[in-house]
Amino acid sequence: MRTMRAVRFIESGRQPEIVDTPIPAPGPGEVLIRIGGAGVCHSDLHVIEHGIGPATNFTLGHENAGWIAALGEGVKDWKEGDAVAVYGPWGCGTCHSCQASAENYCEHHANIASMGGGLGSDGGMADYMIVPSARLLVSLGNLDPISAAPLSDAALTPYHAIKAVLPALTPDASVLVIGVGGLGHMAVQILRALTPARVIAADIDDAKLKHACELGATHVINTQQKTAQEEIRDIVGQRGVTVALDFVGAQPTVDLAANVVGRNSRISIVGLGGGTLHYSANTPPFGTQVNIPYWGSRTELMEVIALAEAGRIRTTVESFPLEIANDVYKQLQEGKIRGRAVLVP
Ligand code: NAD
Ligand code: ZN
Ligand code: ZN
Repeated sequence: MRTMRAVRFIESGRQPEIVDTPIPAPGPGEVLIRIGGAGVCHSDLHVIEHGIGPATNFTLGHENAGWIAALGEGVKDWKEGDAVAVYGPWGCGTCHSCQASAENYCEHHANIASMGGGLGSDGGMADYMIVPSARLLVSLGNLDPISAAPLSDAALTPYHAIKAVLPALTPDASVLVIGVGGLGHMAVQILRALTPARVIAADIDDAKLKHACELGATHVINTQQKTAQEEIRDIVGQRGVTVALDFVGAQPTVDLAANVVGRNSRISIVGLGGGTLHYSANTPPFGTQVNIPYWGSRTELMEVIALAEAGRIRTTVESFPLEIANDVYKQLQEGKIRGRAVLVP
C-alpha cells in the first residue's frame, strides 16, 4: 500500500501529529488532489485548542490547492493534472444556499458532521486529499497552487465580507482593517482593487503595519498606542469610520470598531477572538449594521481567483515543509508570520 504524510488533529488541547497514512482512493463522484500548498490559518489554532464539534482524528488544512491526481467513477469535465483550488466550506450541496453556491451558509450545517476538509474531514496538510465532489473544485488557470492556496480562505473570507459592504465604500468613505495577518493583508489589497475608499490598517505589530503600507494602506495605526482612537478620529473627522473590518474579533478590537465608526456605518466581525460587541446609547452609533460573515461562496472564490489572475491581488507567502507544521503553528501563534504560511508537501 502506498503511503503519504499527513498533519493529524487527534483531539482538542493536543499537539497535532505528523503520521504516515495510506494514500486514499477516490470513490464514485470524488476527486483525489495532489496538494501543492495548504495554508496555515489562525482558525486552526482555535481548532487545536478547543476542537471542532465532536470530530477527532482528521487531517488538518482547510485552505488548499493542487493538481487533480485521480478522478472517481462518474466525474467528468476535469482531467488529471488540472490545477485547482479546493472550495473549503462543504455543505449539503442541495439546499437553497448550496444551490446558490453559498455552501458557507448551508441550511443543513447542523446535521453535517464536518464543516469541510481540515475541519472535521481529512484536509490538505498531506501529500494528497479527497474532495467529496467535483462541484467543490475551482480552476486555478495559470496560477501556481502554492501561492494560490491562501486565496481559498485568506482572500475569499475578506472578499465576501467586503462585498457585503461595498455600496458604503464610496470615494469619501474610510475603511478600518483591524489585524494585518493572513486575512488582513489580502483585505487591504481587495479594498484597493475594488473601492476608492481610504484604507486605514491597524495592528499591534509595526512590521505588519509596514507590510500594510506596501500593500496600499493609506494610513496605519499601532493600536498599542494609547492615542490610537484619537489618531483614527483625526484621519476620518466627524463622519467617523464608514466600515470597520475586524480580523481579530477580540475584546479590544471589537471595542475599537464600536468606538470609531460613525452613524450609518458597518461593522464586520470576522475574527474568532471571542470578544463581545456591547451596545450602549450611541456606541456603536445609530444606523450601524453589524455583520458576522463566514468564509465565502464558490462563485466568490472564482471572482477572487480572477482578481489574482489579473495581478490585482497577490498573496504574501512564507512556505514551509509539512514536517515542521507544529513549529509553523507556534510561529503563527507568536505573530511571526508575514502574510500567510503555506505548508508544501
Ligand atoms: P493571523 O494570525 O494571520 O493574523 C492576525 C493579525 O492580527 C496579526 O497581524 C496580529 O498581529 C494582529 N492582532 C492580534 N491581536 C491584535 C489586536 N488586539 N489588535 C490589532 N491587531 C491584532 O490570523 P488570520 O489567519 O488572518 O485569522 C484572523 C482571524 O480570523 C482568526 O480569529 C481566525 O480564526 C478568523 N477567521 C475567520 C473566518 C470567518 O469566516 N469568519 C475565516 C478565516 C479566519
Ligand atoms: Zn481559515
Ligand atoms: Zn446545503
